[in-house]
Amino acid sequence: MDVNNFYVSCERVFRPDLEGVPVVVLSNNDACIIARSQESKGLGFKMGALFHKVLPDLKKAGVKVFSSNYPLYGDMSDRAVSVYRQFTPRLEIYSIDESFLDLSGFDELLDLGQKIKQTTKRDTGLPVCVGIAQTKTLAKIANRIAKKNPQYNGVFKLEAGDAEQLQKIENADIWGISRRLDPKLQELGIYNALDLSRADPKKIRQKFSVVLERMVYELNGISCLDLEEVAPAKKGIMVSRGFGQYQDKYPRIQEAVAVYATRAGEKMRKQGLAANTLTTFLRTSPQGDAQTYYSNSHTVAFPEATNDTALIIKAAWWCLKKIYRPGLKYQKAGVFLDGLVNADCTQKDFFFKPDTGKSKTLMTVLDKLNKDHGRDTVRFAASGVSTDWKMRQRMVSPRYTTSWDDIKTIP
Ligand SMILES: [Mg+2]
Repeated sequence: MDVNNFYVSCERVFRPDLEGVPVVVLSNNDACIIARSQESKGLGFKMGALFHKVLPDLKKAGVKVFSSNYPLYGDMSDRAVSVYRQFTPRLEIYSIDESFLDLSGFDELLDLGQKIKQTTKRDTGLPVCVGIAQTKTLAKIANRIAKKNPQYNGVFKLEAGDAEQLQKIENADIWGISRRLDPKLQELGIYNALDLSRADPKKIRQKFSVVLERMVYELNGISCLDLEEVAPAKKGIMVSRGFGQYQDKYPRIQEAVAVYATRAGEKMRKQGLAANTLTTFLRTSPQGDAQTYYSNSHTVAFPEATNDTALIIKAAWWCLKKIYRPGLKYQKAGVFLDGLVNADCTQKDFFFKPDTGKSKTLMTVLDKLNKDHGRDTVRFAASGVSTDWKMRQRMVSPRYTTSWDDIKTIP
């Protein structure tokens, strides 16, 4: 399953007037284009194009521009997955807009695909394409075919050995094959998915890797990539953002770092994790004067793994103090939590005696209030009240589905 032009489609669910209108969505701080509607693609706007450079062209072409609205996209993604779950309990959430569904045991797969597509559209408003095949690699190709060829009405079933279709898929369009790898494959006379499917797996393993050998099997309908129903535990949690405008005042940077620390704490508690170490980093703009470029980080280890926001902010500030140099204009800061462990079985420290019961209750209440009444209903004073360091999101749409204040009203 893959949602078509996902971010743009999320915006359109609540703005049906934008149907047929060229739309683009921008990255954090409104830096560059990260999603385009079909119309914008047709007008030649490229992925990754710098917003300030293409702004005159966007205006001239009448393109509607949005800042990214991750609360909306995350929630819409959850809604789509909950529709998929009505059809099969076995699924892997691969990315914010892609999932693999295990349909083994089902018949009439094309009809089923249509049904999943229609139900998703009806229940969430999101347009999806369905690619059906015996392996994940082939399913990704099938989805691509469904998307590019309107005659299939959004659902395509690809058989292993379908020479006509596989021939049309270039190397770099195969899942997991990078542009860098493409010329090396071409040297061996492999130009498309069909060629790769007919290559000798052993030879591919010798020349490249076991990963690519598996790809050959996958293209032949022999499944080598399991469905990952449980997302692998995260290695670390990073919250970092560029400031909307350069910051040189220590208290403002402290506030930003406190907010990032708060978000990182929320993420950990949501996953039942606690961190053993914390790193704060800070830098000036890499685009600025090379003479004054400054970037530094500092790491501390907690006496015991924690997910208490108060402790996380304290540690993040302690690190910040070590790396802050006055007189510089900073562009970005971040907080990274690592050494993640299950919060219920942490290694205890003999001398450290925190009030874990109180901390746990406090964090649970905090999370509940913020979940029920909206983000930051209750927050640490450390994160301040000023907002001038905040991300630039000049054209962000309302958080229609996650904030009571933003709920759509019908006049
Ligand atoms: Mg997509």
